[in-house]
Amino acid sequence: MSVAIIQVEEVHKYYQLGESRLHALRGINVSVEPRAFIAIMGASGSGKSTFMNILGCLDRPTSGRYLLEGIDVSSLDKRQLAGIRNSKLGFVFQGFNLLPRTSALENVQLPTLYTRIDKMERTKRATEALALVGLAERSRHFPSQLSGGQQQRVAIARALVNRPSILLADEPTGNLDSRTAVEIMEVFQHLNEQGLTIVLVTHEPDIAQFAKRVIVFRDGKIRKDEEVKERPRASEVLMAMPTLED
Ligand code: ADP
Ligand code: MG
Repeated sequence: MSVAIIQVEEVHKYYQLGESRLHALRGINVSVEPRAFIAIMGASGSGKSTFMNILGCLDRPTSGRYLLEGIDVSSLDKRQLAGIRNSKLGFVFQGFNLLPRTSALENVQLPTLYTRIDKMERTKRATEALALVGLAERSRHFPSQLSGGQQQRVAIARALVNRPSILLADEPTGNLDSRTAVEIMEVFQHLNEQGLTIVLVTHEPDIAQFAKRVIVFRDGKIRKDEEVKERPRASEVLMAMPTLED
């Protein structure tokens, strides 16, 4: 068994709401091996986003430990956490959050502006990231000239440009039609095969089945944590799906 890339031990999270506090995570234990592909499911309010925010070093547990590549991030200060976010983690959200009057290539380059990488290397990395998501030909397009699925792929390329080891995606297909959603899962399966660890939140069982493992949250606890048996290949599912033009 290889060393865990993510190790979450007895994590609790409370939110202070005036006089009372809300117990959003109630003793979470998760170990994630490198090259994992995990789908997080559960009803609204079950703690999925709270958990993702902790994984993403956007928030800290109230108690418990979180080790990221063996580093106990619970003890790091804000600047150190920002450094980890920028170097080890990539984020994708339901909304694509692209800058409108900015080309796909420039959108993808944005996270490199906070690094010491020079201009030529920036362009090279952004071009490579766009190629990884199948958008090499669209680098000069503005977001308004791209479909929703293409915009989400630009957002994925942007998340990859600093070469993170983990991609965290909170409902990345929530705004997309079902075929486009499977196309995004095809991109994720491809990236995962190249070694990227992926943790993705989804409401849809059809989307979760493309992951290797599904963790279900309920009332701030893990209710189920299982390997996916007979995982379909998104590329094959797409061949059997109608296109919008049909
Ligand atoms: P999910 O993503 O599964 O819908 P969340 O993690 O967003 O669930 O929320 C878990 C619980 O914590 C919910 O009861 C929610 O209302 C509460 N919560 C989430 N974020 C905050 C916050 N910033 N302040 C107070 N309560 C919050
Ligand atoms: Mg949520």
